[in-house]
Amino acid sequence: MKDQGVSEICSTCPYCGVGCGVRLLADGQGGLTVRGDPEHPANFGKLCSKGSALGETVGLEGRLLSPRVHGREANWDEALDLVAQRFRETIEQHGPESVGFYVSGQLLTEDYYVANKLMKGYVGAANIDTNSRLCMASSVAGHRRAFGTDTVPGTYEDLEEADLIVLVGSNLAWCHPVLYQRILAARKARGTKLVVIDPRRTASCDGADMHLALKAGTDAALFNGLLCAIHEAGALDKEFLATVQGFNEALIAASSDRDTVTGLSEAQLAAFYKLWIGTGKVVTVYSQGVNQSTSGSDKVNAILNCHLATGRIGTPGCGPFSITGQPNAMGGREVGGLANMLACHLDIENADHRAAVHEFWDSPRMADAPGLKAVDLFRAAGDGRIKALWIIHTNPAVTMPDADAVTKAIADCDFVVVSDITAATDTARLAHVLLPASAWAEKEGTVTNSDRTISRQRAALPAPGVARPDWEILAEVGRRMGWREAFDYACPAEIFREYAALSGLAGTLGRDFDISAKAELSDSAYMAMAPFRWPASATRNGGRFFADGRFYHPDGKARMLPIRYRPPASEPCTEFPFRLNTGRIRDQWHTMTRTARSPRLAAHLAEPFLEIHPEDARRLGIAPADLVRLENPQGKAILRARITDAVAPGDVFAPMHWTGETAPSARIDALVAANTDPVSGQPESKASTTAVARF
Ligand code: SF4
Repeated sequence: MKDQGVSEICSTCPYCGVGCGVRLLADGQGGLTVRGDPEHPANFGKLCSKGSALGETVGLEGRLLSPRVHGREANWDEALDLVAQRFRETIEQHGPESVGFYVSGQLLTEDYYVANKLMKGYVGAANIDTNSRLCMASSVAGHRRAFGTDTVPGTYEDLEEADLIVLVGSNLAWCHPVLYQRILAARKARGTKLVVIDPRRTASCDGADMHLALKAGTDAALFNGLLCAIHEAGALDKEFLATVQGFNEALIAASSDRDTVTGLSEAQLAAFYKLWIGTGKVVTVYSQGVNQSTSGSDKVNAILNCHLATGRIGTPGCGPFSITGQPNAMGGREVGGLANMLACHLDIENADHRAAVHEFWDSPRMADAPGLKAVDLFRAAGDGRIKALWIIHTNPAVTMPDADAVTKAIADCDFVVVSDITAATDTARLAHVLLPASAWAEKEGTVTNSDRTISRQRAALPAPGVARPDWEILAEVGRRMGWREAFDYACPAEIFREYAALSGLAGTLGRDFDISAKAELSDSAYMAMAPFRWPASATRNGGRFFADGRFYHPDGKARMLPIRYRPPASEPCTEFPFRLNTGRIRDQWHTMTRTARSPRLAAHLAEPFLEIHPEDARRLGIAPADLVRLENPQGKAILRARITDAVAPGDVFAPMHWTGETAPSARIDALVAANTDPVSGQPESKASTTAVARF
């Protein structure tokens, strides 16, 4: 923290997975000035529109200031006793599988650690899942299948050393703006080529060397085609392939289910393949357009196959690179926030890993199988299998696919607890118990960004009312459920040390995640901890994964998987002829709890809209700014038409931010079908079908 002003506090932006460092200056009256941290390795002082407007979002209007039980104000003891009692009774009567936690990539790692320990080690079930399931679960599954662990090998510096960057299903310019700016700077400095693969023409396509507007969901066919082209061109790295299992003629045969389904011309395909194959340093960046698919895991492995076949991984300027959406989606993966993972990248299916964690926690029981993933968790709440549900810092009544059904499931659940900073969300309104949580800039902890850099979030403002940090609320409930010693944490530093020590154990079991060098940090060293990228001790090749050609499967080899293209689960038909794509806009974040407070952010795109192609608009009699009605078997929405050829004929796009609180007719996830990837459980949020008509 050297060079910071006297009262400035170094922290991390609470929005996207770039994980920009910020410096906070409190005015002593509840206000906050925010600027980019010039020393943070993610952003070197730069911020995007959302980050630079953070100071406008810290007012207390709408904040939940005290616990509420059945709609009336309560004190902490009453609320926490009730939560502990209801969870304990439910477990006694119906077993550990009858309760669930649904958490968030907004949680700090220490919060996540306590929630995960409470559910998997003490409740004894794995029914804890995170909204990161909607974001990058397919990347996790793809990495585990190929590498043996959920390792993201890339770093931001790789993007600056690459000669070709391929963005697949990623509008980086809007969703990860500071990282996109780093790419633009690299392009200027060294002429890096940029290819964007996306059915929709986005801001990321501006100035790109190539935009491949493939048909929705056909990414795996495209990368299968690339693999065949690599093979045909004799561009395989035979030496590197000695470190890989699964490359053979059968795999090539399986990959030749032609790229014609992409809808791209032969000339476009040939130009892309030639550029990719002919460029030594390639980074393929992928995001929600790849992950949010019923074939998301296969798409990821189709991309990884190409990098493994050419040895373009483990060296500077090369590699596949999954970019996470949320500020701590990576931390959540590392700490075991997914229902099918244990902490520190240990595998829940592995008996040795389970036993090691069980012993480390010295816990009364241990989950012995993966728990319910997000979509299944809410289905189980709806049909009565989950009888007590704790939802923390997320708004599933808006953001889950089939959001109306999820709203009903939450409303029908016997006992629902919501921890949040506000009571004014669609989900909070359904809670039996509301717990006021500290917000960003009011709490202490760590987050991990997309390139494995762990940074501190720090408090610059006092928590209002009686709001408390999430780790403390979770630990209180754990103690009141009877596990006093295990949850007797005094501060987040204590949790971080325990987590770091557990990672050392994971390291001895051959896992990639090892930050045990931090296990002895003093409280003051934790408070002053500077950002660092793991592996902290640079145990392997200066911290660069796979540089030695060793992976994390038992035989040390990576895996190439035969991938067959599968179309999206919903096919357009006469009744529902449009393909519905959903996503973010530049200046809003998730369900706008924070960003809607900033007038300048709200001014960018002030109301919900539907992008529709001019040919479709003409045929349906839709004029610019008309209201249009969307309808499909899941739900309905009314949006303002934006007529643009950025979307293909037959495709429409709508943003995902608006809620029952801000625009009740525009909850777009009410129309998203709850179809999921069979491996990752990630929902297909970008390829539902819908009818569209003038309203
Ligand atoms: Fe925050 Fe992401 Fe913008 Fe950086 S790029 S300031 S992390 S929203």
